[in-house]
Amino acid sequence: MSMSLTVLGCQTPYPKPDQPCSGYLLRMGPSIVWVDAGPGTFAELQRHVGLADIDAIWISHLHPDHCADLLSAWNAFVNTPSLSRPVVFGPPGWVERVDAMLGQDGAVGSVFITQEVCDGDALRIGSVDVSAWQVEHSVPAFGLRAQYRDRVFAYSADSGPCPQLADLARSAHVLVIEAGADTPQPHHCTPEEAGDVATASQVSRVILTHVSPGVAPEHALWRLQTRFAGSADLGRSGLTVPV
Ligand SMILES: [Zn+2]
Repeated sequence: MSMSLTVLGCQTPYPKPDQPCSGYLLRMGPSIVWVDAGPGTFAELQRHVGLADIDAIWISHLHPDHCADLLSAWNAFVNTPSLSRPVVFGPPGWVERVDAMLGQDGAVGSVFITQEVCDGDALRIGSVDVSAWQVEHSVPAFGLRAQYRDRVFAYSADSGPCPQLADLARSAHVLVIEAGADTPQPHHCTPEEAGDVATASQVSRVILTHVSPGVAPEHALWRLQTRFAGSADLGRSGLTVPV
């Protein structure tokens, strides 16, 4: 069994027809992780796997375009008692935030195993080593690095340029990185900055996602490629690549 990544969506800041917000399906041998639950991604996820197949959910941060479909998933699991409970990793305070939204309907802990992550956490999902890297964003946000056998996947989450990005992505076979900025700013990368991270980290392949709505996606990819000579693709819903 091998490792693969499927883009469920990468639109920002809100979903469009056939273009969900941020969400990724990571298969690592027998283990399956839904990485970010942006609106629209829960439906897309079900094109590829059954609900019973999900081992873990990773919520990088609590901006709605990365986590809103956690409510959809809660509704599915609470109405399907036969499903086993996946573990949900999220930033500090995520359980209270989602519970506040659920109100009298229930609690996330009734259907999910809940876990908060901190910078540097080394975690285990099935037979996969996963680590959390706090990145530079307007709210606490955690990138993800996952290793299965000798293959490495990295996800930037939402982040401006920072040393942690290059560290979490070091020698990754696939890096999913955002370019939520057109011009330099603290909390998102420009396409050029995303390319610089990929080059500094010596990654093999980049999937460019979360492109600023002010930038044409193909132009963003071109801008990234002015700084990165390796393989690079634009993220789009349904794209599956081996890691
Ligand atoms: Zn964000």
